[in-house]
Amino acid sequence: QKSSPAQTEFYQAAEEVLDSIRPLLDKDTHYREQGIIERLVEPERQIMFRVVWHDDQGRIQVNKGYRVQFNSALGPYKGGLRFHHSVNAGIIKFLGFEQIFKNALTGLSIGGGKGGSDFNPKGRSDMEVMRFCQAFMTELHRHIGATIDVPAGDIGVGAREIGYMYGQYKRLTGSYEGVLTGKGLNWGGSLARKEATGYGAVYFAENMLQDRNDSLKNKICLVSGAGNVAIYTIEKLYDLGALPVTCSDSQGTIYHEQGIDLNLLKVLKEVRRSSLEAYLDTHPTAKYIPVSDYPTDGHAVWRFKAHAAFPSATQNELTVTDAKVLLEQGVSCICEGANMPSTADAVDLFLGAGICYGPGKAANAGGVATSQLEMAQNASMTQWTFEEVDNRLKAIMCGIFQRSSETAKEFDQPSNLVLGANIAGFRKVADAMIAQGLV
Ligand code: NDP
Repeated sequence: QKSSPAQTEFYQAAEEVLDSIRPLLDKDTHYREQGIIERLVEPERQIMFRVVWHDDQGRIQVNKGYRVQFNSALGPYKGGLRFHHSVNAGIIKFLGFEQIFKNALTGLSIGGGKGGSDFNPKGRSDMEVMRFCQAFMTELHRHIGATIDVPAGDIGVGAREIGYMYGQYKRLTGSYEGVLTGKGLNWGGSLARKEATGYGAVYFAENMLQDRNDSLKNKICLVSGAGNVAIYTIEKLYDLGALPVTCSDSQGTIYHEQGIDLNLLKVLKEVRRSSLEAYLDTHPTAKYIPVSDYPTDGHAVWRFKAHAAFPSATQNELTVTDAKVLLEQGVSCICEGANMPSTADAVDLFLGAGICYGPGKAANAGGVATSQLEMAQNASMTQWTFEEVDNRLKAIMCGIFQRSSETAKEFDQPSNLVLGANIAGFRKVADAMIAQGLV
């Protein structure tokens, strides 16, 4: 039952899950008898708080802070923090709900949560970002802990923000513990965590293609976004012999037929934090499409000919019209680095076409899985090598693909990884909830 019109994205995510697990609910009636659906869609706890801080002009700024502790049946709440002006309670709730199933699919012991703020770090000085992060953590610290709830990064929250928040947590609690993941390498971070979501999405795509005796080698790929996930998706695509030709940010899209200049992209986004338009200063022959020139029914990034697409920016960035164009142009693989980037009707088209379609909650789970590896290293006070973490990540992505694929086959829809991922994740969480009684 939809009781709040302001939670559009949450309803979209919940409907997708509930629709696709129907065959399981019809077969195993005890899930309904145990009220699992009603319990699952209600977060265990939602925290909303005021964040007050001073900007560089000495003015008082007020933002909203959120943490949704959605489900702890499998372990401590785990999920990122998003700082973006579009953040509201419905967005955090959708992300937290998705996180429950994603975390279950990894096979690791982690519950689902998510948080963030409508604060926009873009255009803010380092000192402003620090003051905001300290104010945010001043409230959040009382709700989290290394075995309670372990936040990480997401849109607008990278190493800088995690550092400022970690420093404040330590100051408030006096405790040096793995309460956040995505930390710096010399103060508790894990090698390969930065790369994990993007690399993981590419490993997932390779698993899907190999299952059909195909691979990413020599495939032209469209990537959206220009942040953490997009950059390391592009890096791994090059490693596997593919050619990524696009990237995008909130201002526009770059198309570079020879292949995206990865080093330049890293400098622009990781060091200079500038707009993608600056890409043209080095590569004047590349094409830049500003948002004002996007098609009214979709996104410019999906309108180029390619074999595979990796949506890696944000939710609902790939519309049904984009999906039609991609299919007409012969795309054979869609692999979602972002959370819920394709609209529900676009997903229906992909599933109907029978192409390889890796839904976000399976394909982008490499980030949270590697965060759990960071927690394991912190708890045992060790640091693994890049290769060790990367090998574990590869094995985890392969496991997620197999669990999703085998479950899809069990329900006679072998290429439907949406159904496979949702049922596999749901079953694990629901069984744990039933075993733990009415909590
Ligand atoms: P970043 O903040 O590093 O990058 C986000 C990118 O997407 C930026 O290029 C940004 O543009 C662009 N973008 C963000 N919002 C919009 C919007 N509303 N319209 C157009 N462009 C937009 O975030 P991440 O790379 O970490 O996250 C990207 C996606 O991946 C999100 O859906 C996130 O939830 C998901 N994800 C991330 C994980 C992680 O480990 N980081 C793990 C699993 C999923 P600009 O540069 O102009 O701001």
